Amino acid sequence: MGYQYNPQSLVADEFINHEEILASLKYADEHKNDKKLLDEILAKAELRKGLTHKEAGVLLVCDEPEYVEKIYKLAEQIKKDFYGNRIVLFAPLYLSNYCVNGCVYCPYHGQNRHITRKKLTQEEIKNEAIALQDMGHKRLAIEAGEDPFNNPIEYILESIKTIYSIKHRNGAIRRVNVNIAATTVEEYRMLKEAGIGTYILFQETYHKESYLKLHPTGPKHDYNWHTEAMDRAMDGGIDDVGLGVLFGLELYRYELCGLLMHAEHLEAVHGVGPHTISFPRVKKADDIDPTTFDNGIDDDTFAKIIAIVRIAVPYTGMIISTRESQQVRARALYLGISQISGASRTSVGGYTEEIRPTDTEQFDVSDQRSLDEVIKWLIDLGFVPSFCTACYRAGRTGDRFMELCKSKQIQNCCHPNALMTLKEFLVDYASPATRKAGDALIEKELPTIPQENVRRICAEHLEQIEKEGQRDFRF
Ligand code: SAM
Repeated sequence: MGYQYNPQSLVADEFINHEEILASLKYADEHKNDKKLLDEILAKAELRKGLTHKEAGVLLVCDEPEYVEKIYKLAEQIKKDFYGNRIVLFAPLYLSNYCVNGCVYCPYHGQNRHITRKKLTQEEIKNEAIALQDMGHKRLAIEAGEDPFNNPIEYILESIKTIYSIKHRNGAIRRVNVNIAATTVEEYRMLKEAGIGTYILFQETYHKESYLKLHPTGPKHDYNWHTEAMDRAMDGGIDDVGLGVLFGLELYRYELCGLLMHAEHLEAVHGVGPHTISFPRVKKADDIDPTTFDNGIDDDTFAKIIAIVRIAVPYTGMIISTRESQQVRARALYLGISQISGASRTSVGGYTEEIRPTDTEQFDVSDQRSLDEVIKWLIDLGFVPSFCTACYRAGRTGDRFMELCKSKQIQNCCHPNALMTLKEFLVDYASPATRKAGDALIEKELPTIPQENVRRICAEHLEQIEKEGQRDFRF
């Protein structure tokens, strides 16, 4: 059956339309050296209003060095304009690796008989949350395989409740994002009521035919159910959703087009685009060898994709995980990434182990530094590490968050929040060297808060954190 491209449709094949993607790729090939068009696209991107999938596709295939350089420069500038020099920190928490799906790239696939299967008890979750708090984390992304028997929604909800209830020393997990398999509107509503931040679900690939082969068995095989999940999540009241492609599975040009079409669809139907986009690449893991997938992308292509997404969706948060090395992450920070994980353990129960366990890991972690090391590194690079969770707690989700971005009030809101949460980290968890570098950074950054009264209140709160042991201030 031939489907018509329609961004407003609720049918996956219509809003992620194969023919439209092929036509966009052809258009990009035909115009990749068309300097007049390239100039027009870049001029539009300069307005900070984003680009369509078709326009972004032309930039992606263009290899004229002067234009590639312009793309990188503009991405860096847009990142600075909307996100300043702040980088938000989070950690994944793996609850269970029981899974009934057959995803061929994931070691949790049901046919893997030698990986140890493990599901955390509430007591174990409590201990993991304490270990994460003791590092300084405030924001988690919980992860679980799909298994209606072992990991039903009740288990996920109870786990969220446990995590929010733990307050160890000055610690607290203030935002729990959730990365679990596609589910029903009713279950999304339950997650919303449990107080989750973002609902994250990676599409893996937008290429339907490949998707069906890469997910040969289990509920995840249903491409339409998976692709239409964000619409159900939004119908269930979750207005912050996170997209992602697992790069390496399919042609990256196809994927970028699909990803941006998905963002356009959410905007067209729900009036708000994705809150975040993540950039995972397939990595080595237990019985998974990434070289068996033909579409791996090199670091330069990866960087270019990140830069183009930055200019195509200027208000969307962009995430890079510890799948990537310190070096790759450093480059990505300048091109648009606004959020990174730190000190991640991708094994179930990994945070309470002295030595990094690998028996239940979802993927091998490339960047294995401690959170303190990551924070010091960010500071040395001139970024302000932020543990802020204020927006969603103040109800600034969905379009209200986008409004904040557009109003340019971010420097009076996110910036002081970043400085205050960094101060908490420095006082409670940092090594002496990180503390020294962080305090110097705060002193330098405080005067950059534009509004005088906000600057004054922020300075007072910084004192109260340091001298009076007070915590959790926010604008
Ligand atoms: N089971 C849920 C689902 O189906 O969406 C949760 C996702 S899983 C715990 C998190 C993500 O890790 C997957 O969506 C996938 O993109 C990624 N992943 C799986 N295997 C990977 C690998 N070998 N290398 C890198 N990332 C991988």
